[in-house]
Amino acid sequence: MTTPSDEASDIDVDVVVLGAGFTGVYLLKRLRELGFTVRAFEAGSDVGGTWYWNRYPGARCDSEISVYNFSERFNPELAQTWKWSERFPSQPEMYSYLRHAVDSTGLRDLITFDTRVTSAVFDEHRDLWTVTTDSGEALRSRYFVPAVGPLSKPNIPSFDGQDQFTGEIYHTARMPADFDMAGRRLAVIGSGATAVQIVPIAASSAQHVYQLQRTASHCLPGRNHRLDADDYAEIAENRGAIWTRARENPVGQPYAESLGELATFDSERQREIMEMFWNIGGLTLCFASFSDLLTNADANRVVLDFLGEKIRGIVRDPDTAEKLTPKTFFLTKRPPIEHGYYEAFNRDNVSLIDIRENPIDSLVPNGIKLLNGDVLDVDVVLLATGFDALTGGLTDIDIRGVGGESLADHFRERYDSYLGISVSGYPNMFIAYSGPQSPAVLSNGPTLIEEHGEWIVNALTWLRERQIARVDVRLAAQEKFTQHNAEVVAATLIPQTDSWWTGANIEGKKRGFPTFTEGVPAYLDVLRKASDGYQDYDLTPS
Ligand code: NAP
Repeated sequence: MTTPSDEASDIDVDVVVLGAGFTGVYLLKRLRELGFTVRAFEAGSDVGGTWYWNRYPGARCDSEISVYNFSERFNPELAQTWKWSERFPSQPEMYSYLRHAVDSTGLRDLITFDTRVTSAVFDEHRDLWTVTTDSGEALRSRYFVPAVGPLSKPNIPSFDGQDQFTGEIYHTARMPADFDMAGRRLAVIGSGATAVQIVPIAASSAQHVYQLQRTASHCLPGRNHRLDADDYAEIAENRGAIWTRARENPVGQPYAESLGELATFDSERQREIMEMFWNIGGLTLCFASFSDLLTNADANRVVLDFLGEKIRGIVRDPDTAEKLTPKTFFLTKRPPIEHGYYEAFNRDNVSLIDIRENPIDSLVPNGIKLLNGDVLDVDVVLLATGFDALTGGLTDIDIRGVGGESLADHFRERYDSYLGISVSGYPNMFIAYSGPQSPAVLSNGPTLIEEHGEWIVNALTWLRERQIARVDVRLAAQEKFTQHNAEVVAATLIPQTDSWWTGANIEGKKRGFPTFTEGVPAYLDVLRKASDGYQDYDLTPS
């Protein structure tokens, strides 16, 4: 990149990217193509992001695979030649894909692994960032692009007596690759998407699985299947159209538009629709069925009752079925996609422990002691306790903007941002994909990741052409965007549910659902307008 006032010695690279998951990898490819010099830092030992860290048994994708990868925009050859084996591929396959994506495009040399960025400080006099790592390296860049993902900081609770426990204890996003549960007694704490994937797999080889549940999830059947020649042919023939449909879909999935408000159908037809999507599986019941599930409590309760009925139809023990039946509104937190989860509770070696009724008291040498005095004898405790989502990966880094202001302090107090990409007072920083106020939580990942990637590289190219040294979003534009999002969210049922979406899972965290909820197409429209002259930004020439 050639901004005239950049003295050769001023910057080491044009852009520093944080993270080598889908987002970081996409950005590296596009930035390099456009002639920017770039370095990425990755805390893991390899690429993959979420697919590197989450190696727990049963981990698999829950988005439709036709759009849970890179489109031809990243690399046509990769899109045309990689053959996925299943509708919802497992973690090893996702991880291999990302490794191949990086190696086949020669991006690996741009990434420094096993290295955590500890701080990033904006130099107001020279309009550059100094990015410091835990290996002691300090790099100066014109732009700083955190691409850390929404779910990168594990939520690791500690329990009384943990030191006495003689078994193994892991958070599910920090498990050893060679973990073997055959013949062992396992406790899985948590009942979100991660636990829901682990339990049925664990049940098939572990001696006993205790699932410790605080709140029941709204699990939907995956209906996973292997992809055959016809599936490949269909994806290959329609690749472009599938991606277009995903970009035009509110949640970035290749689904047709939802069918309309629930009350516009009589109860028999409502039932048929729910059955149809229950049988198709995946997230279709959430996003391709009725349009008012998040805004109409009565409509929501119809689906909730349907789920309860399904659970009672699968789980033989009525008490267990009742405990597994969710009481919170459907879709006000992320529904897990399950593969034999409810069936697992019909096995003798799986027990559901309701820890809201009978909480964990402490860990003891041989297991977990509950408040009523019962002890669960276990060899392994898996903490499927989720993440400090959206902001956790950012607030862990000491990011300082104009006047030494701390981004961590900013996000502790408010989730304000512009587009989920820019924060006023943090010039030349572009948060990719998962910044608060982006639609990341409600979108298929790669659909939004590519759009964000394109928006950011186009912005940098535009700035380069005009020799702009500093770009900082105006506070008024940020406040307007944030306020509008908050008003739309307030009209939904989402704030009524405690979850990682609303920040309620982390003690002391500010509550809120900082998400653009009007859908991917509306968001892409906002992005297009925002890039028309970048009028909401203060631009300082070199
Ligand atoms: P999660 O949805 O936040 O679930 C965490 C679970 O741990 C909840 O059941 C929570 O109970 C429980 N918990 C948290 N702290 C606890 C404590 N101190 N004591 C007891 N229980 C505790 O986390 P997750 O399951 O890891 O999923 C997070 C997100 O990751 C998902 O929503 C999804 O977006 C993504 N994910 C995707 C896939 C996939 O299929 N591709 C798989 C896994 C995860 P409460 O609900 O009562 O707080």
